[in-house]
This record gives sequence, structure tokens and C-alpha cells, in this order.
Amino acid sequence: MFYSISCVFLCYLICLVSQVEYVFTDKTGTLTENNMEFIECCVDGHVYVPHAICNGQIMSGASSIDMIDSSPSAESKEHEELFFRALCLCHTVQVKEEETVDGIKRGIHQGKATSFYISSSPDEVALVEGMKRLGFTYLRLKDSHMEILNREDDIERFELLEVLNFDSVRRRMSVIVRSNSGELYLFCKGADSSIFPRVISGKVDQVRARVEHNAVEGLRTLCVAYKKLSREEYEQVCHLLNSAKLALQDRDKKLAEAYDVIERDFILLGATAVEDRLQDKAADTIESLHKAGMKVWVLTGDKMETAAATCYASKLFRRNTQILELTTKRTEEQSLHDVLFDLSRTVLRQHGSMTRDTFSGLSGDFQDYGLIIDGATLSAVMKPSQEGSSSGGNYKEIFLEICRNCSAVLCCRMAPLQKAQIVKLIKASKEHPITLAIGDGANDVSMILEAHVGIGIMGKEGRQAARNSDYAIPKFKHLKKMLLVHGHYYYIRISELVQYFFYKNVCFIFPQFLYQFFCGFSQQPLYDTAYLTLYNISFTSLPILLYSLIEQHINMDILKRDPSLYRDIAKNSLLQWPIFVYWTFLGVFDAMVFFFGAFFLFDNTTFTSNGQLMATNTQMMFGNWTFGTLVFTVLVFTVTLKLALDTHYWTWINHFVIWGSLLFYVIFSLLWGGIIWPFLNYQRMYYVFMQMLASGPAWLSIILLVMVSLLPDVVKKVICRALWPTTTERIQRMKADRTYLTHSEDSLLDEPQTTTEA
Ligand SMILES: [Mg+2]
Repeated sequence: MFYSISCVFLCYLICLVSQVEYVFTDKTGTLTENNMEFIECCVDGHVYVPHAICNGQIMSGASSIDMIDSSPSAESKEHEELFFRALCLCHTVQVKEEETVDGIKRGIHQGKATSFYISSSPDEVALVEGMKRLGFTYLRLKDSHMEILNREDDIERFELLEVLNFDSVRRRMSVIVRSNSGELYLFCKGADSSIFPRVISGKVDQVRARVEHNAVEGLRTLCVAYKKLSREEYEQVCHLLNSAKLALQDRDKKLAEAYDVIERDFILLGATAVEDRLQDKAADTIESLHKAGMKVWVLTGDKMETAAATCYASKLFRRNTQILELTTKRTEEQSLHDVLFDLSRTVLRQHGSMTRDTFSGLSGDFQDYGLIIDGATLSAVMKPSQEGSSSGGNYKEIFLEICRNCSAVLCCRMAPLQKAQIVKLIKASKEHPITLAIGDGANDVSMILEAHVGIGIMGKEGRQAARNSDYAIPKFKHLKKMLLVHGHYYYIRISELVQYFFYKNVCFIFPQFLYQFFCGFSQQPLYDTAYLTLYNISFTSLPILLYSLIEQHINMDILKRDPSLYRDIAKNSLLQWPIFVYWTFLGVFDAMVFFFGAFFLFDNTTFTSNGQLMATNTQMMFGNWTFGTLVFTVLVFTVTLKLALDTHYWTWINHFVIWGSLLFYVIFSLLWGGIIWPFLNYQRMYYVFMQMLASGPAWLSIILLVMVSLLPDVVKKVICRALWPTTTERIQRMKADRTYLTHSEDSLLDEPQTTTEA
């Protein structure tokens, strides 16, 4: 039972992959490499780049700090030292000695064993390594003492007292350390939005300007702040933390409250910038998904500017895309209500009749819209309407309306649960679109579980996402092949499988139904029991099974090159009522042809007037079993040949299975009727098949009936292809023309071939 349930679920999933309308993707690690590189840091407005460029060559080494502006004052000097120490101390990085990972030795540099850093967050590793290049090397954590090698090659030891771990709600982490001289420090690093409100002094404006500048460049920024603690304050902190940690109820809530009390009144030190490069072919993939008629939404925890820069780089936003902002900055000036109505007016002015094609970028007449929304505004939009208040209306609908008319949406500063909320919102909208979520980290799990199809990327952030997903892929670019090629193929295969099964069983059982009118409703079977049993099990099972596994109605490269083909199968177009009715009608028609065709030919005197055979007992020769066998033979040949006509991708297995099935039927029938089986009490099929084949008119009627029953489908296909071809069919024809031409005149085709390959 579990097997069948999982099979049904798998079929359902496969079907969904071909019907995706919305793609929700994470940014870091999904669109980008998650391979962080420390670019610069800024302390009190002074910018430090961890290498000096000398005659165009990058000089690596501890002493090579490139100061972009004037040298710092004495106070800044103190801040600078504190900043570097803060970054060396405020992290959860571990130091590992030489180690073999997947057969590659890590941590060996020029034959000497060196250490390297590992951490759950690649940003932290990049920062600690950046500090190493700036002269402060984090050595290790030993006996709860952190050791740092400073610029003067002295080892400084700090006692690690408390770690306030990072979480995605606070978006910051802190450590409390005691220096050698006994001073207590609290260092904190985190997102700018969570640090700036907690700062009471420091050069906030300069740092903020630099952070904003870096974010626009697409760099990931973090801010660093500190405060000194007196002994009393530290004791207070310890008391707060301990009572929260020991709480038996609501421990998380109490810890969060304690953190909130402890992490305030900071002095701002500076900010860091880390680069994360875009993944290979990420832009190409997003473009293809757009062309296939899907809408791509990026949901990220990053800053708006950083995320927007990535979106431009990955072609989610094009240069001519008009960006609509729905951010806290804007809702501070205007009320949310006004902003939303403003945006919807802008969008709807042009998009009176919005079609799927508009998002492809193929039609240039329409203005492209991109929406940027941040976490705080989203919570305001999602807040359920309060009864009695006029302003707290239900904004979900209007927000959805705006989103529906935007080709791309970027949601930044999202908490993991908000990501899931967005997916849920779209899922529940009135069209009930099929959604797909792709992510790489634990923070994407809720979104992956919420979407219809969840895809996990096995990246540097562990395997939680991959484990919770329906499919796991190694890189974002594989999404293209998965949806456009495999999604397309499986949909074609499944739709044919379902329809063909109905068709062949209608063909099979309808003559039996008709026969009842001719046998006085005596429940006399038309077919022999062996045929009844084996029809679905062996005579007609393998060809469709193979078809549903390997059929490729169009070449894989063409599907990849032309994403718009995905639209041919959108909206479940091949499993709609008209097509189902057509197949059923075809089944009924074929069944009538088998039955009445055989009936009238049977009744005809010319059929039985085969002199020699007539001389023997006519009753025995052309009894009701011969009639049933004739109908059954036509039936098996027709349904198998119908599938052969539908098959585009012929391999030796197809030939083997299709012709093998027919051959098996003939051999089985010969054996079944040709031998007296000892285990049978009576044998009604004895010699029936052979005698039927011994008559020439029977051969003729089999061929004639098979052709007549296949004819309408062939005619329908020819007419439909000529008059209303789908994009897929047009390409199939082009391909067929080309193959024909290549065979006939090789020289003429050199040019077109190279253009299609390019
Ligand atoms: Mg991620």
C-alpha cells in the first residue's frame, strides 16, 4: 500500500513539475555561489582593503593594508584595534588542522601543515580570514580562552565568557570576553538594521554611508559594535542569562528578552563588506524560466540594495524594468493604504489585458514592472484586518493584484517564516497556481515544505534543505533542465499513459458490451478467458510502459534552447476534458469498427464460401469463439499500432517491445489453441486461431479493420498539424524537414545547421 501511495505521490509530483507557474528562490547559495570573499572593512569611516596594489600586482601579506583615506586619529586608532579584535573574537569559527576531505588534503600549504577555518556560516570564515590578511590572526579556542596573533606577533588571550548565538530573528550575534588586563567587553556583529537602532555613539553617518554604498555594489554588509561592561553589569548579564537558560517554560522567549536587554547601548565601530559571486548560468536560467512563462520571485534575508544588485546581475530585473518599491522607507512617508493604491494604479493603467506572453520579454510594447518589498512591510500587508478600524483593511488582495502584474518580485529582509507565508499567499490566490520553491539553507526549509514542489540545493549550508525537499539538485542552473526538459517529457508521457489506458480499455470492453445484444444477454463472454486475463497484463502492457519511461517527442536540446515550448503544456493542457472526450470517442469508434466490421464480414457469404473449408463443419470453424478471436486480434493490433504511431523516439527497445508484443500475441494464440493442454478440463479455443488464419478473407478483414480504425486519428492529426499546429509540432516538422533534406542534399544544409546549433 505504501508503495502505491508513494507511486501516486510521485506521479503527482512529476505532473506538478511540468505545471509550475511561480518559482520562489532564495538568493545566497542558490543564485549565488555562497563562496564569500572579504573585500573591505570600514572603521569610523576609514576604509581598509586587505591588500595593497603595487604596480598592478596584488601584494598579499599581513602588513599590506590599503587605507583609502587619511590616517586615523588617536581615538580612531583605538577603535581600529577594537574592531579587528571584535571580528577575531565574535564568531563561531573553529580552527582545523590538516584534514582530508573527499580525497583532497585541505590545510596544507606548500608542503607544511597549516590550519584552516570552518564554520556553519561562510560569511564568518571570510571575515576571520579577512582579519588574518589585515594582521590579526585568530589562532584557536583553548580552555575557554581565545588566542589572537596580533600585528606585533604577540599572542593575545581573551577569556570567552558568554556567546549570544546568531539567530535569524535578531539578525546579530554577540560575545562577552575578558581581556588579559581584566577588562570586560561585549562585541556584537549583525545586520545594519539590527545594529544601528542599538547604537548610542560612534560615527554612525559615515559608516551608514559606506554600508549603503557597498550594498548597492552587491556586497554583503555587516556592522560591528561594542560596549565595555563593568563588573556589576557583567554580573547582571550573567544573572539574566542564567535565569533565562534555566527557565522551564517559554525558554526561547525569555532568552530573546534577555538578549534584547543585554544587546543595547552600543558604540559603533564599523562595517564589513563581503562579496558573493553569482552562480554559473544563473542569469541564463532565470531568463529561460521567464520565457517559459514562469514568474520568478527572489526571497532573501539580505539588505534591499544587495539583493537588488544581485537581481540586476541575474537578469531578474532588466535595465528597462520599472521598479516599484513597497518598503518601510516609503510607508514612513505615506500610509500603507496610499502606497498600495498608488502602486496598483500605476500597474493597472497599462496592464488592462495582461497575458502570460507579456512576461516572456518577447513583446516589447509593455512596460515591465518589478516589485521590491521588505519584511516589515510584508508583515503589515499580511496583518489580518481589524474589525471596527477603517484603515486596517485587507490589503492581501490588492497586494496580490500588484504582484500578478509584475514580471519579477524581490522580497528582502525576510525571516524564514515570512518566506513560507509568501508562498502560502500565492498558493491560496484564486487561480491556485502551482508553486516551486528552491533554497539551500535551513532558513529555506519552511518555504520548501510549503510550496507544491520543493527543491533543495546541497550547498555549503548543510543538508537540511536537500533533506526536506522533493528533489535535490547541485546547482541552480540544473533547474532549467529539470523543468523545461524533464518536466515537459514527463508530462507528455504521463498524459499519454493516462489517456491511452482509458482508450485501450474502452476498445477492449465495448465490443463485449455490444455482444450482449447479440447473445440474448446471456453473459456469454466474447473473448476467451486467457485473452481476458492477458490483455492488460502482457499483450498491451509493455509498449505503453516503455513509452511512459523513455518517450522524447522532441529533442532535448531544442527544449532547452526554446523555453517557450513549456507553454504548450501549461495549465494542464493535455489532460483537459476535450482531449479526454476525444480519446474516449476514439475508443468507442474503434470498438464499433472491430465489432460490427467483424460481424458484417462474418455474416457475408463470401467470407464463409471458402469451398474447401465450407465442406467441413462450418459451425465448428466459424463459431462464436472465432468471431471473438477475430475481434480480439484486430483489437491488439490496433491499440499497439496506435501507440507506434504516437511514438516519436524510436530505440531498439521500442522496436523490440512493440513488435515483440504483437509476435508474442500470435505465438501465444498458436500455442494456446494448438496443443491439447492436460490441465484444462475442456478446451474451447482448440484450433480456433489456426483455422481463422487459414482463411484468406480473415486476413483481409484483419488488415482492413486495423486500417479503418486507425484512419480517423491519423486524419485528425494531419489536419490539426496543418491548420493549428502547436509550437512543439511546428518544431517537430522543422526537424523532420531538416532530416529529410540532410539525407537528400547534404551540401545545401550546411548553413542552417550551424545556425541552429549556435
Ligand atoms: Mg541560502
